[in-house]
Amino acid sequence: MANKREYPLNRTRNIGIMAHIDAGKTTTTERILYYTGKIHKIGETHDGASQMDFMDQEKERGITIQSAATTAVWHGFHDQYAKEPYRVNIIDTPGHVDFTIEVERSLRVLDGAVAVLDGAAGVEPQTETVWRQAETYQVPRIVFVNKMDKMGADFQMSVDSIKSRLGANAKAIQWPIGAEDDFEGIIDLISKEALFPVDELGEKWEKHDIPADYVDLVEEKYSELVEAIADVDDDIMDKYLGGEEISEADLKAAIRRAVLSLEFYPVLAGSAYKDKGVQMMLDAVVDYLPSPLDVKPYIANDPDTDEEVDLIADDDKPFAALAFKVMTDPFVGRLTFLRVYTGTLESGSYVLNTSKGKRERVGRLLQMHATNRTEIEEVFSGDIAAAIGLKDTTTGDSLTDVDHPLVLESMEFPDPVIQLAIEPKTKADQDKMSNALQKLAEEDPSFRAETNPETGDTLISGMGELHLDIIVDRMKREFNVEANVGAPQVAYREAFTQSVKARGYFKRQSGGKGQYGDVWIEFTPNEEGAGFEFEDAIVGGVVPREYIPSVE
Ligand code: GDP
Repeated sequence: MANKREYPLNRTRNIGIMAHIDAGKTTTTERILYYTGKIHKIGETHDGASQMDFMDQEKERGITIQSAATTAVWHGFHDQYAKEPYRVNIIDTPGHVDFTIEVERSLRVLDGAVAVLDGAAGVEPQTETVWRQAETYQVPRIVFVNKMDKMGADFQMSVDSIKSRLGANAKAIQWPIGAEDDFEGIIDLISKEALFPVDELGEKWEKHDIPADYVDLVEEKYSELVEAIADVDDDIMDKYLGGEEISEADLKAAIRRAVLSLEFYPVLAGSAYKDKGVQMMLDAVVDYLPSPLDVKPYIANDPDTDEEVDLIADDDKPFAALAFKVMTDPFVGRLTFLRVYTGTLESGSYVLNTSKGKRERVGRLLQMHATNRTEIEEVFSGDIAAAIGLKDTTTGDSLTDVDHPLVLESMEFPDPVIQLAIEPKTKADQDKMSNALQKLAEEDPSFRAETNPETGDTLISGMGELHLDIIVDRMKREFNVEANVGAPQVAYREAFTQSVKARGYFKRQSGGKGQYGDVWIEFTPNEEGAGFEFEDAIVGGVVPREYIPSVE
């Protein structure tokens, strides 16, 4: 088979950036796109120039709700790093609690993640939520402690919070030089070099000796790092015990092994806003996060034999992909984002949607970059692309070679937790509204629209008030339908007799999987204790533990 792939699999990374809201995910993503050369002006987030939040309401609200994927190329920061270019696909994960389901769906298709922390806050509630979700899907992670320039920034506290709040084996591989207004540079603990920026945008950096004040600290932190790696890596343990010298290359290779096996989480320091540390973080993405060849195979079911099949990235195998996001694009209409697990797909060819039992034709294939999109003829295994022309495919569907049907392990979508009645402002818009709601529900499996059979009212349900607000907003903007909505009601309200407002963490006990989620919710519990019904009602929802067994 002709192999026209631009980037070998081992130089491909599919990553997500995950964070508590406001930790700096958008700013960090923008800087990544800037440094990877795809955007040429650094835009401020929240002033309307943000590159990733391309929907108007995202800009207005300052939140990211789209789970699109952006393709970037990374050439490496310093001479000691990668010289060969790497393809880095950034799968956007939303930061708001109402969109936990979107986070889950992106975790399905990415291979590694960068957890961004606010250096003044350390681990925050939603960091815990997304961290648990990443654990469920066994996604290797590195941690970027952002905002080291902010008042109150404390790197040691942030690293400690990863251990204390997430129970993760995390150690610094860098150390910030100074903090707050005095955050000046970064020490690479592995190469034991101090790096300082020499220009405004932090594009060029110079290596210096470690400042005298930091010499002892660097030795101490280096030892902590080596000991932590020795604990999980035999090669380093042997060298450590034998008093042998541990080279930079040995240590990096061992860190990579430990990250891939989810036994270790390297911690980096920086300030996206002040243009410090993002390029080194990209080097760490390349150095430590998995390529599509390093992750465990995605599981599919062969409907003919009813046997499990492991999907390993290989261009010569029959095509199999997961549709992980359907979006309506203002220019080209319906876009279906695909993660190709194995095989290749050419534009103009047919695929089998095994979830729907339908053949569909892929009209065109696009790769999305920060400021432009390129049409591609073929998408290869391990890569991500957006297909135009798939009419019946919805999020979570399996797409395979027409002669080799497979059903890929799909995503679980929790039931909606909140419901409200909706009617068009103008009666004549009823059909237009129904059509809009249907389109929106096709895009978003955690949103539903239905008709109450008794009253004939239209009811919409979703993962939270904000989720439904955004739906109503999109109806207005994209479909030109204005609607009035009733007061929100929580699904399954019949079971409860008293109102409780709750926000917190709740580990799901049933199902054995231990999923976490976070939804702000108001609910009314019953006398017997609302726990069980509640638990079932909002899989992945959040309620403080103390509310669960008994509510006065
Ligand atoms: P997100 O909600 O995680 O996407 O966070 P944003 O990237 O939108 O950032 C939230 C706020 O923090 C914005 O006002 C940013 O300008 C600010 N911010 C982001 N990164 C930094 C940083 O490194 N230092 C400081 N001081 N502020 C930052």
